[in-house]
Amino acid sequence: MTTGKIGVTTENIFPVIKKFLYSDHEIFLRELVSNAVDATQKLKTLASFGEFKGELGKMDVRVTVDKEAGTLTVSDRGIGMDADDIDKYINQIAFSGAEEFLQKYKDTANSIIGHFGLGFYSAFMVSKKVEIKSLSYKEGAKGVMWSCDGSPEYTMEPIERSERGTDIILYIDDDSKEFLEQSRIDTLLKKYCRFLPVPVISGKKQEWKDGKMVDTSEDNVVNATEPLWTRKPADLSDADYLKFYHELMPGNDDPMFWIHLNVDYPFSLTGILYFPKIHANIDLQKNRIQLYSNQVYVTDQVEGVVPEFMTLMQGVIDSPDIPLNVSRSYLQADRQVKRISGYISKKVSEKLDKMFNDNRSEFEKKWDDIKIFIEYGMLTDEKFFESARKFFLLKDVDGKYFTLEEYNTLVSASQTDKDGQVIYLYATDKESQFSYISAAREKGYNVLLMDGQLDSHIIGLLESKLDKVRFVRVDSDIPERLIAKDENKESDLTPLQTEILTTLFKSQIPEKENTMFLVSFESLPESEMPATVTREEFMRRMKDMAALQPGAGFYGQLPDSFNLVVNTAQKSVKQITEEATESLKGSVEPLKSEIESLNKQIEDQRKQTADNKDASTDISELEKKVTELRTRMEKEISDYASTKPIVRQIIDLALLRSNLLSGASLSEFIKRSVELL
Ligand code: ADP
Repeated sequence: MTTGKIGVTTENIFPVIKKFLYSDHEIFLRELVSNAVDATQKLKTLASFGEFKGELGKMDVRVTVDKEAGTLTVSDRGIGMDADDIDKYINQIAFSGAEEFLQKYKDTANSIIGHFGLGFYSAFMVSKKVEIKSLSYKEGAKGVMWSCDGSPEYTMEPIERSERGTDIILYIDDDSKEFLEQSRIDTLLKKYCRFLPVPVISGKKQEWKDGKMVDTSEDNVVNATEPLWTRKPADLSDADYLKFYHELMPGNDDPMFWIHLNVDYPFSLTGILYFPKIHANIDLQKNRIQLYSNQVYVTDQVEGVVPEFMTLMQGVIDSPDIPLNVSRSYLQADRQVKRISGYISKKVSEKLDKMFNDNRSEFEKKWDDIKIFIEYGMLTDEKFFESARKFFLLKDVDGKYFTLEEYNTLVSASQTDKDGQVIYLYATDKESQFSYISAAREKGYNVLLMDGQLDSHIIGLLESKLDKVRFVRVDSDIPERLIAKDENKESDLTPLQTEILTTLFKSQIPEKENTMFLVSFESLPESEMPATVTREEFMRRMKDMAALQPGAGFYGQLPDSFNLVVNTAQKSVKQITEEATESLKGSVEPLKSEIESLNKQIEDQRKQTADNKDASTDISELEKKVTELRTRMEKEISDYASTKPIVRQIIDLALLRSNLLSGASLSEFIKRSVELL
């Protein structure tokens, strides 16, 4: 028997391992099972080269729990180790200054294990003692047992052993007793070893008998050794892909489609990505891609590893270039991983491009469901945007689809404004914006439907990327001004009439909390509506954006502002104008001219003050007077307005058309309508 000290320069590395790797104790099982699988694969490889001529036999890896003995054993029938191998691979830990190193990097301790060959030693996170019993495949090899209780001292002695391969026996620590539960072990094996290429056996299959689950005589194999992604796409049917999807994502609806990645160059990468149907909240669906390295599970925390927009997809990616045992921050910084990510993004856009070109009508059918992925990709990945330009579709309110280029050709003749900008009109809701949509269409315009979760962001992106294109929502202005073709026609009201009508209409707009209305006049065709509510595009976008980000300061706090555009050429407005001018002229005109002359005095006073600091002034006295007169004038007008239900009726119709009439105002409107009948 030999004894010795494990080749670490520090006194005792194991407490350090234990302490700093606490969060991920469970990964010891993955380490040991992958070592066993590696040893098995190595022997198979040697046999295939004719370097091992013996009988391979059954090559399963076994995980055995012995609760009474307090042990967990991982056994394989792989290449095994002789005393020299153990000395070389186990005793000489491959780095020095381990403790200092761990101290320094304790936050990223996870990234240390695999990288410094500590895989096997992770067993000490859960064990008070570890034994290795092994027989090498080499001819004439002698069995060997190695034992270590967690101090740097180990013992090694020859043993009688006839079975080729290795048993790793863990004497589980008192504070890690959970790893002596068969169910806990099975759960971990399902998580980490589900797709390993060598059968992994854990206990026996169970069956229901006499009211409880009992072991059968059949071994319980926990893994599928040939998972779908390792097979050739040509050999697989849709049913195979769907079946695999439902194994991966139990309880989900069928995915819309999938992409099978399968490449050797410039790096080895396989995988299957599924596009799920996204229902309501996109965040709920994140992190459903699992990363594997040679069929060993690495992580499902893929943010920063795969392109951002792909976190909405589901499936698996397997590459030996994805390092095992590293923390997420390490993965994110890894250059190789970055290249993989860029590559996957490219593959996804190629596939979408092909789907679009091969069968456009099928692609259009899927569009509404996949557009969220594509838009997310375009918003977060510059390169993806460039490739998506070719197959990104705009949909109009009739459900017709256009590529960006097609759409520009379609509308540029009729929808270019006087400044040479092509205006893309859009609606976000076909129902509530119905009358605005029809009004725009009557003018010969096309209207897009932009009702997706990310559409408001896409609008901003397209405006910045497309030349001379601006999006304008159909209800942001009266149809005449949606696309400004020439200078606006001024209204034909006299200043007195403008004064009267402004107050007349303003006083009758129902009050609503945090809402503000401006009134303006326009001489539109007689057949147009008497009044229309519009909401300026810029302010609406700002408010929409503020609403998306809680606590988003400035724009969020502003009241909602709308415009009431009154058509002075319309018959009933004309009549109101005439009647009101007639009735109010006598009282309003003198007030108006008095206000004007006072205002002039104020202005003169101000000028004098500015020229000569000593001039005695009492502007505030004059201002008070103006306010008083203004209030009187407004009262005259609003008193008059309240005797004219038609004014309120015109306003309510405009509000109704924009879905702004509700509650008491709506029921008043209905009552008034009946009375007017
Ligand atoms: P790594 O697997 O990253 O090389 P480990 O500490 O897990 O680091 O293992 C060190 C070495 O010990 C392995 O590279 C392998 O040569 C040897 N080894 C570990 N487990 C086994 C096993 N079950 N059978 C044969 N060799 C093994």
